[in-house]
Amino acid sequence: MIALSLAEIAAVVGGQTHDIPDPSVQVTGPVVRDSREVGPGSLFAAFVGERVDGHDFAQAVVDAGAVAVLGSRPVGVPAIVVEDVQAALGALARHVVQRLGATLVALTGSAGKTSTKDLIAQVLRRKAPTVFTPGSLNNEIGLPLTALSATEETRFLVLEMGARGIGHIRYLTSLTPPRIGLVLNVGSAHIGEFGGREQIAQAKGELVEALPEDGTAILNADDPFVRAMASRTKAKVLLFGESGEADVRAENVRLTDTGQPSFRLHTPSGASDVTMRLYGEHHVSNALAAAAVAHELGMSADEIAVALSEAGSLSRWRMEVTERPDGVTVVNDAYNANPESMKAALRALAAMGKGRRTWAVLGKMAELGDEALAEHDAVGRLAVRLNVSKLVAVGGREAAWLQLGAYNEGSWGEESVHVSDAQAAIDLLRSELRPGDVVLVKASRSVGLESVAQALLETG
Ligand code: ATP
Ligand code: MG
Repeated sequence: MIALSLAEIAAVVGGQTHDIPDPSVQVTGPVVRDSREVGPGSLFAAFVGERVDGHDFAQAVVDAGAVAVLGSRPVGVPAIVVEDVQAALGALARHVVQRLGATLVALTGSAGKTSTKDLIAQVLRRKAPTVFTPGSLNNEIGLPLTALSATEETRFLVLEMGARGIGHIRYLTSLTPPRIGLVLNVGSAHIGEFGGREQIAQAKGELVEALPEDGTAILNADDPFVRAMASRTKAKVLLFGESGEADVRAENVRLTDTGQPSFRLHTPSGASDVTMRLYGEHHVSNALAAAAVAHELGMSADEIAVALSEAGSLSRWRMEVTERPDGVTVVNDAYNANPESMKAALRALAAMGKGRRTWAVLGKMAELGDEALAEHDAVGRLAVRLNVSKLVAVGGREAAWLQLGAYNEGSWGEESVHVSDAQAAIDLLRSELRPGDVVLVKASRSVGLESVAQALLETG
């Protein structure tokens, strides 16, 4: 964080100081909410959770070097006390980003935020110091904490913004107003919670409404809901996508034999070839989005293409490919799943598995509302059309729908199996996998299928 005195922080958040002998002492280290991350110079934000009360760690964090606690009651060590710690963090973030010399880039969408954020960060940091959201910390607490981790040297601050309803993104943009706002897609993630795609588009579009006139809205030309957001912003619009009208686009898109996308990148400043290290064609769209951001920040097509070709995944369980010593390849994409990413992952599996036996170990895609049956059926069908050797559907009703889809598409008998839980899948795979097989593991977060991928790697 940029150095701020306790007196200044108290004034910014409207808090009372308690047990602070010298208010001119500065916070220099990060602002953290996890007591284990406290170091010298830190400010510790104490939240009262359902099981744990951060205030209980007050003495421990001061012993570990924290300058003070930001909490909701006095704790006997130096503290700034406010009514609402989350709002205080937000106010502090807003104050700090105004003083930074950094350009703020914010992105949202239904799927691919973290993957794209990681790509953007890996491209931009070749040009100048870049701070970005760690993992998926994209809510009203994670966002300010990320912004507060920026320093005087930071030139680019890349922030993932998540929305669970109308008004969420508007609130996040009020804390850290972006100059560049990127919307990836309006898919079916959380459709049950939102009520429909129009509502999701309404919520995500709040990002471009927040942009200033001299800002840039970067929009997906291939997604009609996103494309339509152009009318909701006063900022300049830059389009990315495979469609011909896009400013930043891909030509000759194909998957290599290893399932990695390769394409010719076109930006308004030139063209250059990209072969990605990431797996799955859905990353083409993510890469184009990242390229559009980088172009807007002054990078050439060549620079961007090299960076995209060298970028790896920074976040776990997203198409993580591991080769076992016996030649079995495990593709762990168990972080999450939606219809778009399920299909992309299956296509990547098919490309990687040419001439090999392929296994799709799939579980439910959550939060699909009325579309759930049709979407699971479609995934089961696609697995058969792509000639996946074996579908292992894991879990309850949705797994049955996956298997039904496969059956309806013409697969019966041993090509698709329905097992009740992850352990049953592990037992089946342990007895049936042969050297050279490729196994994809994927489902929504709540299914926890990473245990299957991990078990396969442990026994390898
Ligand atoms: P969250 O809402 O959990 O933060 P996210 O939007 O950050 O999710 P990622 O974590 O990048 O998304 O990816 C989640 C899942 O979506 C992964 O399984 C990934 O394979 C898939 N995915 C990534 N990019 C896309 C895309 N452009 N379209 C569809 N699916 C995608
Ligand atoms: Mg995320």
